[in-house]
Amino acid sequence: MKRENLQQYFAILIFIIPLMIGVYLLASKSSPDYKNNLRQLQSTMAFNYTDADVGINSFKSLVETGKIQTVYYNESDFILIAEDKTKKTFTFENPKNPEFRQYLMEHKVKIVESSNSYSKILSSIAFAIVLLFIIRLLTNFYSKKTLSADLHRDSVEFEESKDVKIRFSDVAGSEEAKENMQDIIEFLKNPKKFEDFGAKIPKGIILYGPPGTGKTLLAKALAGETGSEFIPTSGSYFIEKYVGVGASRVRKLFNKARKNSPAIIFIDEIDAIGGKRGSGKDTSEDAKTLNQLLVEMDGFNDKENVIVVAATNRLDMLDDALLRAGRFDRHVMVGLPDLNARYKILKVHSKNKPLSPSVDLFQIAKQTVYMSGADLANVINEASIYAIKENYSEITLNHIDKAMNKIIAGDEKKDRSNISDTEKRITAYHEAGHALIAKLLNKSSVPKVSIIPTTKGAAGYTIINPNEKMFQTKKEILNKVSELLGGRASEEIIFGKENITGGAANDLQRATKMVVTLIAKYGMSEKLGLVCLDDKEISLGNELILRETKQILDKIYNSTLNYIIDNKNKLQLIAEKLLENEIIDEHDLEVLIAS
Ligand code: ADP
Ligand code: ZN
Repeated sequence: MKRENLQQYFAILIFIIPLMIGVYLLASKSSPDYKNNLRQLQSTMAFNYTDADVGINSFKSLVETGKIQTVYYNESDFILIAEDKTKKTFTFENPKNPEFRQYLMEHKVKIVESSNSYSKILSSIAFAIVLLFIIRLLTNFYSKKTLSADLHRDSVEFEESKDVKIRFSDVAGSEEAKENMQDIIEFLKNPKKFEDFGAKIPKGIILYGPPGTGKTLLAKALAGETGSEFIPTSGSYFIEKYVGVGASRVRKLFNKARKNSPAIIFIDEIDAIGGKRGSGKDTSEDAKTLNQLLVEMDGFNDKENVIVVAATNRLDMLDDALLRAGRFDRHVMVGLPDLNARYKILKVHSKNKPLSPSVDLFQIAKQTVYMSGADLANVINEASIYAIKENYSEITLNHIDKAMNKIIAGDEKKDRSNISDTEKRITAYHEAGHALIAKLLNKSSVPKVSIIPTTKGAAGYTIINPNEKMFQTKKEILNKVSELLGGRASEEIIFGKENITGGAANDLQRATKMVVTLIAKYGMSEKLGLVCLDDKEISLGNELILRETKQILDKIYNSTLNYIIDNKNKLQLIAEKLLENEIIDEHDLEVLIAS
């Protein structure tokens, strides 16, 4: 609970508690015999009542000598109160026998009946609980109201950077994205021109794609190029449980941008506030925040030089309202970099670094498929650290290799003494099997094969570049499966069926998945025919799909075995070279295969 809320809570309690006591007293006073009630309260609450507490026999002798005038009587009370002529009171234990009342009457004692004081106390406790509950509800409501009313309580501020140094030239690749932002640059540089033509300019751009691909960098560069203020924030920043806080922060953000225009607002992880509505997880609070964002964007007029750039990993997660015209109506995909872009990114990040002239960054780019811009920046950075640690004056290929290895597979294992020669041989033949099939059968690019064990648990790895094709034929998919099975097949051929290892588990898993996809989703098997099942249906059709998958895998495994046997001399050349060098590159591989 926030401190302000606590204070309010206590303030209300201080007000409510005397009120409750007052209400209770009033209620008691309005009953016919106030004094009686009070006494009862005393008698039940305080057994050490200061008046004389007398035993039942002493009480009886007082009665019998005519001293007792009144008894305040309730059948179920443990202690009863008696009063004598001088108004002195006595307490005594209720004998709780049916004749007691009779006995009092016979001795002309006045009996004042009273209701059960226990039940009264219980009911007042219940009353108090109900009141407390109401107070809680009220304070919650009250504190939310005040929080949204008194915005100064939300001391959160947005930081802006005035003089952004990043330019588009610092963002390598991403040509489409940059092109897409060109008119916005023009607009921010020369809004008057657009105004004169009455041209509409997008208010919001959504950059979407995997993490680390330079979305933030692009937004920053947009600010840098146009001399705009850069105001970065994140969607998660607007998620608050208090009513109105998210919405008020949105207002604050846009006010700040307007005051500092021209400005670029950058909202990372926009899905945190702009997720599809009615997806179950959202609350009305989140809806209010999103609405406020929409209101602010709708309220922009063309004279306000504020552009909102938002980033998300997945466009399809966003609410449609956000994507509508006049809001974030420009959507720019920022994907993983292709070969050329990787090369450029590597160049950008090694610009001011002492890179050995023998390092060919294009070769590195080839070996770094699936890496994001952030990963690539990381490779160069890690390589510099290796160079510094080893006291080199420049970054060598070896440092870059180690850095790539670290990013692909975790650190190289420091202590390799516990790896037996046999294990190393098995790994070399396993990887050679993959490489042979990939290079010779599939004509794929294989930039790197390594048998350096990694801390991520791999004994070695083979990097195979994917064919950047939209659709793959059935034959291509089956050849890919063969590539995956090549490791195990090679082990079997060289070391015998008895000596195959579990090192192929991951290969088998991927191969199986590929075959299941082929038969159950691409409708490419003869047995199952033209079907495309969802995952649930696939698990339901387990038996049939399993049998068909196994049959296809067995068939491919056999043909892979045959292919490797036919090219056993090449396999041996690759494996022996690996044992010698631990790492071989595309060129080595091509030479070995050609021989
Ligand atoms: P995203 O916002 O997409 O998650 P970032 O923009 O935060 O990614 O990228 C993180 C870092 O990765 C950048 O600061 C930069 O060093 C590097 N980077 C990513 N993409 C590129 C690129 N296209 N060109 C140069 N550096 C890049
Ligand atoms: Zn393998």
